[in-house]
Amino acid sequence: MSAPDAVVLGSGPNGLAAALTLARAGLRVQVIEGAEEPGGGCRTTELTLPGFAHDVCSAVHPLAAASPFFRSVDLAARGVRLLTPKVAVAHPLGGDRAGAISGSVAQTASSLGADASAYRRLMEPLVRDSETVLDLVLAPLRSRPAELLPAARFGVEGLLPARLLAARLRTPEGRALLAGLAGHSMRPLSGPLTGAFGLTLMLLAHTTGWPMVEGGSGQLIAAMAAELSELGGGITTGSWIERLDQLPAARIVLLDVTPRQLLELAGDRLPVSYRRAMRRFRYGPGVCKVDWALDGPVPWTSETCRQAGTVHVGGTIAEVSRSEADANAGRHPERPFCIVAQPGVVDVGRAPAGRQALWGYCHVPSGSGVDMADRIEGQIERFAPGFRDRILARSVRTARDMERYNPGYVGGDITAGAATLRQTIGRPALKWNQYRTPLPGVYLCSASTPPGGGVHGMCGLWAGRTALRDLHLDDCGLASG
Ligand SMILES: Cc1cc2nc3c(=O)[nH]c(=O)nc-3n(C[C@H](O)[C@H](O)[C@H](O)COP(=O)(O)OP(=O)(O)OC[C@H]3O[C@@H](n4cnc5c(N)ncnc54)[C@H](O)[C@@H]3O)c2cc1C
Repeated sequence: MSAPDAVVLGSGPNGLAAALTLARAGLRVQVIEGAEEPGGGCRTTELTLPGFAHDVCSAVHPLAAASPFFRSVDLAARGVRLLTPKVAVAHPLGGDRAGAISGSVAQTASSLGADASAYRRLMEPLVRDSETVLDLVLAPLRSRPAELLPAARFGVEGLLPARLLAARLRTPEGRALLAGLAGHSMRPLSGPLTGAFGLTLMLLAHTTGWPMVEGGSGQLIAAMAAELSELGGGITTGSWIERLDQLPAARIVLLDVTPRQLLELAGDRLPVSYRRAMRRFRYGPGVCKVDWALDGPVPWTSETCRQAGTVHVGGTIAEVSRSEADANAGRHPERPFCIVAQPGVVDVGRAPAGRQALWGYCHVPSGSGVDMADRIEGQIERFAPGFRDRILARSVRTARDMERYNPGYVGGDITAGAATLRQTIGRPALKWNQYRTPLPGVYLCSASTPPGGGVHGMCGLWAGRTALRDLHLDDCGLASG
């Protein structure tokens, strides 16, 4: 490629979303990736045995399904199929008891017994105003919502700690369900905003569902890379960059990195005050992830769990709360709250006939080198006796391994920065536009910027738009924010 107009460092979903936003506006874009393969947190590999396709990081994609950026990629035309399990998420409590989200609010409510009315009251307004709410969730905080009242209602309820929100429910199933969803925040469930995680994930379950990608998450990256190539852009892999001046000269540079890497890359080129802000940026706990090759489906005692794409394993709200509080306080939970995905429920091609590829992780203290496989398997065994007998092979990554795999997972934090109240208002720093750095032409586009972690590409889209605006270029008709 001749000299690029723009260089993007990092080919995670946000890096590629930024690259496509720029390339669609006519810029020549070069993406530089340190790993041998593009994709960041969106790769699929045979981690255990031949024929088992494991999602190395992300596996479940309600955010991609809801994302305006991914809608613009036209995944279907590129042969990418999102497969949506009938039961989005289930939370077993022993025997046949489980809280679960499946189908409409009414269907889910009716499965929650004494919580039916409370669940409807919580979810019906959100589903009715889902467009406004999801626009709000996927945009920088400074964006003006399309409708104020629904946005304000979501803001007020979302600010609540999940434990307080769960007090509106009465059944152990309803409360555990909300706790498990809020657990995705990686914050103690007594913390502000954990309610927003729970509500958003519930809302997504009723609107987009919680799909997985046929063949694995890496297909999303393949689709983005194909479009970039058609637009004349390129991806160079296997090229780790240590300093910004190692990058090819370009009019603009977008960095799919966290504040920690920005500090290393830019060093004292950054003003002291911004350096201080980047050093203040906080990372959350880490994860210990396990992938299993199984000789059959997980033998959950609950039929609902057998149909669910995602299963939250960890028992009652009290147990889930304890586990999340432990991980945040630097303790390894004895009975960890585990997030488990079973792609085989919708995608039989992930494993040889009759077998299953299973994905799961739990939260652990930042930087932990502890292998939690035994404790995670113990938790699954509680609700699926005989699970251990089905294991053919496993692959374990501790939090420390996660950071070695991708330097953006600082201490094993898979969301590129803690979802605290402060870092929701200012991510990564308190600035009107959080994508610009003080260096002219240099932008951040990673999950350390709004709207934060997850495979939605929206950090890349918003960062790309900021850069285009600074270059006085249009972004191909996408509404500006
Ligand atoms: C175990 C796990 C499970 C997850 N599950 C889900 C899920 O189910 N659903 C979901 O929506 N999200 C999930 N996530 C989160 C999601 O993967 C991330 O939020 C998302 O990938 C962030 O995208 P990004 O582009 O900002 O960064 P990344 O995906 O981290 O990409 C950054 C890229 O930049 C490259 N890079 C960084 N520094 C340099 C450098 N100096 N030189 C060269 N290259 C560099 C890295 O190698 C990497 O490829 C999960 C993550 C993990 C780890």
